[in-house]
Amino acid sequence: MASNPNSLAARDIASLIHPYTNLEKHKETGPTIMARGDGVYVYDDSGKRYLEGMAGLWSTSLGFSEKRLVEAATRQMEALPTYHIFGGRSTEPSIELAEALLKIVPKGLGKVLFANSGSEANDQAAKIVWFYHNAIGKPLKKRIIGRVRGYHGITVFAGSMTGQVANHIEWDLPIGGVLRTDCPSHYLFGEPGETEAQFVDRLVGNLEALIEREGPETIGAFIAEPVNGAGGVIVPPKDYFPRIQEVLRRHDILMIADEVICGFGRTGQMFGCDTFGIEPDIMTVAKALSSAYLPISATVISEAIAEKITAHAGKIGNFAHGFTYAGHPVAAAVALETLRIYEERDIIAHVQEVAPHLQARLRALAAHPLVGEARGVGLIGALQLVTDKASRTVLPAAAGIGPLIQARAMERGVIIRASPDAVFVCPPLIITKAEIDELMDALSAALDDGLAEAEKQGLL
Ligand code: PMP
Repeated sequence: MASNPNSLAARDIASLIHPYTNLEKHKETGPTIMARGDGVYVYDDSGKRYLEGMAGLWSTSLGFSEKRLVEAATRQMEALPTYHIFGGRSTEPSIELAEALLKIVPKGLGKVLFANSGSEANDQAAKIVWFYHNAIGKPLKKRIIGRVRGYHGITVFAGSMTGQVANHIEWDLPIGGVLRTDCPSHYLFGEPGETEAQFVDRLVGNLEALIEREGPETIGAFIAEPVNGAGGVIVPPKDYFPRIQEVLRRHDILMIADEVICGFGRTGQMFGCDTFGIEPDIMTVAKALSSAYLPISATVISEAIAEKITAHAGKIGNFAHGFTYAGHPVAAAVALETLRIYEERDIIAHVQEVAPHLQARLRALAAHPLVGEARGVGLIGALQLVTDKASRTVLPAAAGIGPLIQARAMERGVIIRASPDAVFVCPPLIITKAEIDELMDALSAALDDGLAEAEKQGLL
C-alpha cells in the first residue's frame, strides 16, 4: 500500500493522526479516501461505491448530496460568512435556529446554547449543571451520574461522563465528579432467569442505593443517551427511563438527555426522549442537527434553569462561558435548512415507513448461528455476536470477528460498524426499502464470512 510517496495514501500516512484508528496498523493498510457522495452512497477515490450504512458517524441524516444545504451555506457565506454572539451580538440564523429547535424539543425546554460538537454540548451541559447549582445556593450538588457503556464524547469532562474503559485507559480519565450506574441491556447484563421487569427493578434499586450512599446533596445530574450508540446500540426496556426519572426527581437530580445520535427522527419520533418517555431538564443535540454538513451542536435547557442562571449571571455581572463559533451563522443557516427539510418532507413519517423493514431484516438474522440478539429501534440497530447462544457468551475481542465482518461488508460495497462483539447499522434517514435490502444483503453475507472464520478458529 502507498508505495508511491506522492500518492494521497502515502501523504495521509506521513501527515495524519486518525481518530479511533490502530495507528501502527494504519501505516500498513493506509486510508480509504472518500471523494464524493450521492444520496446514501459515497465513492472512494478509485470510484468504488459504498452504501453508507452508518450515515458517516451516525450523523448524515439527509445523505451526501443535499443541494439545499449547499445553497443555504453559500447564501450565508455571501451575506455574512462569520460572526459571533458574544457580548449580546447576534445573527439572524442563530436566532432562527434557536426558535426552530425550541418548537420541536420536549416540553419544558426553553433556551438554547450553541456549540460545535457533541462533546462540547455535553461539557456545556455539565457546566450548566454546576453554574445552576451555584445559582440556587447548592454548591455541593455537582456530581454527575453517567452509565456503563454511555458515550458522551472525548473532551476531558465528556470523556469522563463516558462509561467505556477504552476511552479512559491510558488517557487518565475519568477525572473527578462522575459517578457510574448500570447499562440497561437486559440481554447483556440480566442475571440468569431474571425477567426484564425484575431487571429494571434491580437497576432502579441500584441507582437509588448509589444516590443514598453518595449523598443526594452532592449529585446534580444524571446523563444518558436514550439509545446508547457507540456503547452497543442498547435499547432500554420500555419503562426504564420513567422509573429512573422517578428516582431522580425525588432526589432533585437533573436529567440530561444526550440526543446526539437519537435526535431528529432516528428512533422514529423527533427525539429519543419522545420514544422512551424521558422528560429532560437539559438536552444535547449535534450530528443530524445539520445532517453533519457543518459542525454545530446545541445544549437546550429548561426555562426553569434558564431563569436561575440568567439571574445569577446578572448578579455576578457576567455569564463567562461560550465558544467563539457558538451559533456560527453558516453552520446555523445549514442546520436551519436541515430542520426545514425534515418538516417539509416529513422525515419522521418516512422513518416510520421504512424502519419496520430494517428492523424485520435485522430480527431475521437473530436465527444466524453467530447472532445472540438482534436489537434496534427506528433506523438504528445492532447484532450481538456470540459464540454460545444459550450462555450468551460474547465473541472474544482477540478473535477479530467484528472487524472482519465490517471489512467483508466493505468489500461488498456496504459500510457498517463493528465492535469486537457486535455490528451496527445506522443509515441516513432518507434510505429507501430497496437500499435497506442492499445494506442487509451485504451484512448477512459478511456475517456468514464471520461465521466461517469463527468456526475456523474453533470458537463455536
Ligand atoms: N454523544 C453521543 C451520544 C455521541 O454518539 C457522540 C459522538 N459519536 C458524542 C456525544 C460526541 O460528539 P462529537 O464527536 O461531535 O464530539
